[in-house]
Amino acid sequence: MLHLCPMTKHEMPKESAPRHGDNAPQPVRTLRDWLDHLAVRNRLAVIKPNAALKFEVAAYAKRLDGKRATLFPRPGGHPIPVVSGLVSDRGWMAEAMGVEPAEVLPRFLDAALNPVPWVETKAAPVQEVVHREVDLAKILPLPTHNEHDFGPYISAGLMIVRNPRTGKQNVSIHRCQLAGPNRLGVLLLPRHTNAFFEMAEEKGEPLDAAIVIGVDPLTLLASQAIAPMDFDELEIAGALQGRPLPVVKCVTSDVRVPAEAEIVVEGRFLAGVREPEGPFGEFPQYYGPRSNNHVMEVVAVTHRKDAIFHTVVGGGLEHQLLGAIPKEATMLAHLRRTFPNVLDVHFSPGGVMRYHLYVQIKKRQDGEAKNIMLGAFAGSFDVKHVIVVDDDVDIHNPTEVEWAVATRFQADRDLVVVPESQGSKLDPSTRNGVGAKMGMDATKPLSAPEMTFKRIRVPGEEAIDVADVLKRDGADWRGALKS
Ligand code: MN
Repeated sequence: MLHLCPMTKHEMPKESAPRHGDNAPQPVRTLRDWLDHLAVRNRLAVIKPNAALKFEVAAYAKRLDGKRATLFPRPGGHPIPVVSGLVSDRGWMAEAMGVEPAEVLPRFLDAALNPVPWVETKAAPVQEVVHREVDLAKILPLPTHNEHDFGPYISAGLMIVRNPRTGKQNVSIHRCQLAGPNRLGVLLLPRHTNAFFEMAEEKGEPLDAAIVIGVDPLTLLASQAIAPMDFDELEIAGALQGRPLPVVKCVTSDVRVPAEAEIVVEGRFLAGVREPEGPFGEFPQYYGPRSNNHVMEVVAVTHRKDAIFHTVVGGGLEHQLLGAIPKEATMLAHLRRTFPNVLDVHFSPGGVMRYHLYVQIKKRQDGEAKNIMLGAFAGSFDVKHVIVVDDDVDIHNPTEVEWAVATRFQADRDLVVVPESQGSKLDPSTRNGVGAKMGMDATKPLSAPEMTFKRIRVPGEEAIDVADVLKRDGADWRGALKS
């Protein structure tokens, strides 16, 4: 696993310093502020009332994914509305941060390196309503997303647990299947939450946990940071928001949760209990299988008086993007330690924002692209195919990257294949996670004569204001010729 913290500040690129001057846009701090931000830009679609929780909510959200966030009044007749697609576009995340799109990765890295501890408050909107008798499906509008999902899931909940030894918190997102009125089946992969649970389970004790639903985009993003153990991701959220995040103690445990969130599900992971969970539609566009997973018993639900429930449709852009940005930031920092001429990295949407990595470099030496590929494979086992391009190729445009492969890559010279390596278990073409890596060097040879790889361009094309041209009406073209 990659860690952000070992990188010291002086290694950070200069442009990474946050710039929030008097007139600079401010970071977004609550879900409600973000919905307002989207609404005034015509990016929030209010769907008809009473959309069915089984498939219909997800169907709308999926069709509008990347174009509009969706808001569902009275979903399935439930009084709590559902929102989805809050951050399905990279540019929107930049706006939430209050930076330009090119600054998203440096800003995220800076926040991870300069965490801001949270501050405890007693005035917590998220505890306006407290349920101690819990029937989850009655209290919350729980949608069922994909065709073969086992049933309703909480898919956009921040799972917060405390290290039983140190008291430090961990924040991460897990799929939580409704398994009974007060019971959730939860997939805990072998990461921090699971490590804390194992410490409790060794002693035969349950682990207190809280699931926080309905937070701002920056807290969602912070939850996906690839940070060391005992590094509370809420402190990254504070850094991104530019303030200590206000938190409140749960009503049934010592777990601290964002006070301005919409909903908190409080409970505990049961020691020595595993029950079937899944299948569930996952980010690679396939189902994660049914297997015996962890069980959380719910003991209370708290929420705002007029709470809003957030759901992420499994496999959608929002699902992919939330994981991709922290992974890109970590990969960029990792590669730059050895290769300072790496300019940018991108996990492409077609590569499920995990498996295909595009790397843009300022080439200094022939052969270097292959070292960079090997560095990328070592940096994350999810990385399957790496394409390295020059600085004149836009890595956020897949057509540009394909053009570089089409015109600068030769398979006998520029291809690297590493057989039988560790990959993603969710990639169905692997054998239980074992598969091949492929790297493609699509950079120009340094020795090539200048005109051989000179990109054609029309002088002055960049200066044309296309938006202005598109505003003019072509219907009266005959009249235009006469005037
Ligand atoms: Mn963690």
